[in-house]
Amino acid sequence: MIKAVVAGAAGRMGKRIIHMIHQNNEISLGGAFERSDHPSMNADAGHVAGVGELGVKIAGSLEDVIDQGEILIDFTAPEATLENIRIAAPKGLAMVIGTTGIEGDMLKEVETLAGNIQCVMAANMSVGVNVMFRIAGEMAQILGEDYDIEILEAHHRMKKDAPSGTAMRLARILAGAVGRDLEKVGVYERKGIIGERTDQEIGIQSLRAGDITGEHTVLFGGIGERLELIHRAHNRDNFARGAVRAALWVVKQPKGLYDMQDVLGLR
Ligand code: NAD
Repeated sequence: MIKAVVAGAAGRMGKRIIHMIHQNNEISLGGAFERSDHPSMNADAGHVAGVGELGVKIAGSLEDVIDQGEILIDFTAPEATLENIRIAAPKGLAMVIGTTGIEGDMLKEVETLAGNIQCVMAANMSVGVNVMFRIAGEMAQILGEDYDIEILEAHHRMKKDAPSGTAMRLARILAGAVGRDLEKVGVYERKGIIGERTDQEIGIQSLRAGDITGEHTVLFGGIGERLELIHRAHNRDNFARGAVRAALWVVKQPKGLYDMQDVLGLR
């Protein structure tokens, strides 16, 4: 039985992760924490997650709970994840990082620190999306230059980053598959008299509305037909289940940075 510490324990994902941990016989909740000004401070993490009392109080920082588990599961915000890995890595605490929107220098630092511990980092922990990552590039290669590539993603109104981490990963995979540089061909907005679509561009568009958990479409538009690859998350449980699966997997691996393709054996 391994013990996990959950960051952002009162967040949408944190609560579902605690739920999935509670249902699993191989992992238990050792510690939980939140922002120090969060209203759930000192509440029982099980009560907050809706699974009944677990005897684990929500603390105000990772330092308070770092000795209470072998792995930290972090679905919070980019600055928080960076702060957490700076504390976790020197102590050799394994991590599962699901936070999205980590970019630039921040991403470089997180990746460097993650390489020294057992860590899985993935913008999307669902099995379906990871299969989509695997086959989207193959489809682009087979269809070739005659098919326009567009990505459409839709998420709930509370999501802070755009495009989604998943859409960006799809864009990188697709651009790589057809030998294009995403920095040059990515088109994130269209308005006004913009002229005809170029052959090379890859459109990435974001919708934000209501409580949509997460939808991603890759559209290959040809002349006289189009092919669409669609993933729709019905709720957050697939991500939370994937995070627990990643935690159980990574604690048995050598130190290094992995993603869900490794966890699911899709490489
Ligand atoms: P949320 O806002 O509901 O939850 C985030 C929680 O983190 C909040 O409760 C917040 O108080 C807490 N937090 C912020 N700073 C903190 C800190 N310094 N220390 C401790 N806790 C802190 O958001 P959410 O919908 O649960 O999403 C969280 C992250 O996970 C986002 O980046 C989202 O895009 C990502 N996400 C990833 C996947 C995946 O499969 N990888 C799936 C869904 C969401």
